[in-house]
Formats: sequence, C-alpha cells, structure tokens
Amino acid sequence: MKVHETLPLVPIAHAQGAWLVDFDGHRYLDAVSSWWVNLFGHRHPRIDAAVRAQLDSLAHVMLAGFTHRPVVELSERLAALAPPGLGHAFYASDGASANEIALKMSFHAWRNRGHPDKRHFVSLAGSYHGETVGALAVTDVALFRDVYAPLLNVNARVPAPDARRGVSVEAAAAALDAYLGQHAATTAALIVEPLVQGASGMAMYDPRYLAQAREITARHGVHLIADEIMTGFGRTGTMFAWEQANAAAPDFLCLSKGITGGYLPLSCVLTTDDVYAAFYADDTARGFLHSHSYTGNALACAAALAVLDLFRDEQTIARNRERATTWRRALAPVAGNPRVRAFRQCGMIFAWEVAAAPPDFARRFFADALAAELLLRPIGDTVYVMAPYIVTGDEMAMLGERVAGILDRLP
Ligand SMILES: *Cc1c(COP(=O)(O)O)cnc(C)c1O
Repeated sequence: MKVHETLPLVPIAHAQGAWLVDFDGHRYLDAVSSWWVNLFGHRHPRIDAAVRAQLDSLAHVMLAGFTHRPVVELSERLAALAPPGLGHAFYASDGASANEIALKMSFHAWRNRGHPDKRHFVSLAGSYHGETVGALAVTDVALFRDVYAPLLNVNARVPAPDARRGVSVEAAAAALDAYLGQHAATTAALIVEPLVQGASGMAMYDPRYLAQAREITARHGVHLIADEIMTGFGRTGTMFAWEQANAAAPDFLCLSKGITGGYLPLSCVLTTDDVYAAFYADDTARGFLHSHSYTGNALACAAALAVLDLFRDEQTIARNRERATTWRRALAPVAGNPRVRAFRQCGMIFAWEVAAAPPDFARRFFADALAAELLLRPIGDTVYVMAPYIVTGDEMAMLGERVAGILDRLP
C-alpha cells in the first residue's frame, strides 16, 4: 500500500472485450488476461448469457449428498477433453486448493493402499503451485516462500529442464530418476507445471521431459500431478499442455484460471479409476475428505460450460494456431529489440528477459505500460504477454510497437 501512494491503484469501471476502462475513461489492453484467467475477454456475450440463464434455475447447492446438472455435464465434458483415463472430478474454487486436493488425495490413496510412509512430494526447481500452506511447500519462488518456510513441510526439489540454465531434458530426467531411486518409498507424488513454469518467470521446456517424467514416476511407483492451472485451456497451443507429451496420462490433472474464462472462481482435479478405487469403501475415514462449502458451484460450472462451448463452436484451438503466428509477427519489434534476451513462445504465451534492467524494473515497466494503454506486469526482469484469445492482429501490433518504444526509453 505504501507503493500505491506514488503508483495509485487503477479503479476499473467497466470492460469490453480485451479492454479495461477506468473511471476517467482511460483504457488498458488486458494483455495478461487479468492474471491469466480471462481467455475470451471481458463481457463475452455467450458467457454472460450462460451465467444469467443459470441464475434462473439454481445458483448453488451443496454437493454433499446433492448434485446438479451443470456439475455433472462439466465433469463429463472435462473428462472427455482431458488425456484418457482421467474420469473422476473433484471441485474447489481456486488453483492453490486444487493442488492441495491433489497432494492430499495422492497421500491418502497411498495410505489406503498400505503405504503410509509415502507422505513427501517432489517438485521442480522454479515451480509455482500456489500460496496456501500445502501448495507453498511445493513452490520454489523465494519471494513467496522464504518468510513462511517455518510453516512448510519439507519437500524435495529436482532440477527443471531449462535450456537458458544449461539443464538438458536428459540431465533433469536423470536427476529425477536418481532422486526417486533413493526416496520412492517416502514419496507420494511428483508435481509439475507442464511445458511452462509460469509464476517463476515463464520458463519453457521441451515436452520430452514430461514423457520421461511419466515413465520414471510410473516405474518408481510415484504419482504424477500435472498442474495445468495456467497451461490448461489452450494456452500452450493444445487444449492441455500434457497432450504434447505423447505419454500416458498423469495421475492428477489440476485445472483452474481459464476454466470459467475469468468469470467466477472454480477449480477442478481430475484423477484416475485407480486413485478413485483406493477410496472406495463404506468407512467415511477411508473416503477422500475435503469439505469445501462452494464445491461445484452451479454458476461457476455454467460459466465453464459456456467456455467449453466457445472452444467447440469457434474452433478456438485451430484458430489459435493462426493467431499465435500473427501475434509472433506482431511482436517482431520486441523480439528484435536490443534490450531483449531469450524471446520465446509456447503457443499463446510470449516471454523475454530485459538485459541490464534498471533497478525497480518491474514496477517501472508496469507504470510505463499503463501510460501506453497496456496492462503488462513483469515478473522481475521477465516480461510476458498472455493475452485473451480475442486480441486482434492490429491490437497485438500496437502492443508490439508500444512495448518496443518503452524498451527503447529505458535508461
Ligand atoms: C495461478 C497458479 C496457481 C494458483 O492458483 P490460484 O487460483 O491463484 O490459487 C497454481 N499453479 C499454477 C501453475 C498457477 O499458475
């Protein structure tokens, strides 16, 4: 709040498409999809209509002992879209909780199967899985983690494949194999962000790592949790990033962010028959316990169904392939800027580092971007664009020109 004395909060009055408008009538292109959630822009007529229509029948009912049509339909459609074998769904309202659920469920499934010692987790260097106490314990971002470290369970980290740091897919896979060779008996699951490690700075890696991690975890009897909270719903070029792995499905797939197109809080954990069967019993204590009051909220499910309708009816994945090419061309002035290092792309995500960034770069760039009618929010010296899919080639070209101008004016 102290910082906001000199950099005031931006009060948004309304929004339309990819544009946010403040109370003074200034507009901002929402080029980060409001923290990666707003897939189809703001006030999309079809999502608006779906939420309004749902209000006419049911906003919410508890899912303990009850169910409703939107949650059943959403579960069936997500299972059909996900990698084969993930036919069971558990709902929460945010990404961190989805990961908490996957971690708890993995541990509890092993425990029910007679392996109570499998209670640790392994994640990748530079991972981000949310900031609740369990999710933070598998997150490797010092800024978020260090203060709370005394509260966190000790979990292991293995190297992430990262060409920028000289860690090859083979080296990262060998490190995982070696770690599990020693610790599989006490490890419940590996948790990964497939293809793009977002919050630690948009690190992008080769899909071959996922296939190897799947093979290694299966061989050691360890679950694999795919945290697709950011990468899901078309961000990496396929519906789910995991599709690019050419591998058997993960044991858990965690989804949130884009799932409702940025309309309502919702998250979902999909899992396998095998995990489901581990809980199948008369005894309540053997069942999976995570009693979340808003689980499977009907309005949120209705928004998610409208999002899936849009993917189907507008052939979003196919059209995004063209958009990704158009956007890349539009960002050529950025890619070619002398301050830009490691310009990279994964599907609809673009990122780069800024060389010799001045102190306070992230805040300063954010303010400069706002003055240029752009919402862009760097992570340290890394700038990324993760725009709503509806951004036009002209809008992206405008962004490319203006960002290059901001970079040119940096000290
Ligand atoms: C955003 C994010 C989370 C946390 O989701 P919240 O809804 O913010 O709790 C977890 N994992 C990944 C990969 C994310 O990008």
